[in-house]
Amino acid sequence: MAEEEDIDPLLDVAQNETEGRIVAGMEHVRRLVRVDQKPIGRTPRSNLSTYSGMFDHVRRIFADTPLARRRHYSPGRFSFNVAQGRCPVCEGEGYVMVELLFLPSVFAPCSTCHGSRYNPQTLEVEWNGRNIAQVLELTVDDACDFFAGEASVMRSLDVLREIGLGYLRLGQPATELSGGEAQRIKLATELQRAQRGNAIYILDEPTSGLQPSDADRLMQHLQGLVDAGNTVVVVEHDMRAITQVDWIIDLGPGAGEDGGRIVASGVPGVVAEAEGSLTAPYLKAAL
Ligand SMILES: [Zn+2]
Repeated sequence: MAEEEDIDPLLDVAQNETEGRIVAGMEHVRRLVRVDQKPIGRTPRSNLSTYSGMFDHVRRIFADTPLARRRHYSPGRFSFNVAQGRCPVCEGEGYVMVELLFLPSVFAPCSTCHGSRYNPQTLEVEWNGRNIAQVLELTVDDACDFFAGEASVMRSLDVLREIGLGYLRLGQPATELSGGEAQRIKLATELQRAQRGNAIYILDEPTSGLQPSDADRLMQHLQGLVDAGNTVVVVEHDMRAITQVDWIIDLGPGAGEDGGRIVASGVPGVVAEAEGSLTAPYLKAAL
């Protein structure tokens, strides 16, 4: 889940840090969701599939296989964070720390489970010819074929692929993800939730690092949040993205200490004509 806060901190931030504040309409805001680029976890125990909630559904599928049922394996058995199912030597890390004389310690793949994180009994359980460790090795794109027809898993996979994360592995550790990838995983997790509206989403440069086609799809998803009755606030420099918004607040006139004032605001067509805005000519060209 993305960082979620009560309304009071929102007011705090607005009043203390930026000297701005929300003057009206707060009664319509139920949630504040900051979709930032902070890591989704600080250890390799957190990964794409655990964070998005997808792994819960995958583990349920494995627990539902005939062999797992005969052995009374619960979904928890297929978590590398639970003692029964994981490798006892590396405790589900897949790696062990090797102390070297006179040299910094290094991480090496666990020689007992060979990096799979699980014990042999857990790995004997297969679904469609793959065990749980092999599933975590799948990319999002490959998992879409593997889990086709499994609606609960596909709900996560579809969104992850749509916003340009098809190349990530399901078990890709949080520690290997870039800030942009972490942000998109948070957004995908948020998008697969049932939308009840009345939330404010804040995103910092969500399209950075994306190819134009992926950026366009991401903007469509953000538009979907708006259509569902939410408000999306995006800090953005990409003119392609900026042309698609309902309202622009152009901060400037320069960067850093030379900026911070509202130079222009309005619908894209109005800001594109604003005098004194360094953004205007670029916006006009993009429109
Ligand atoms: Zn191990």
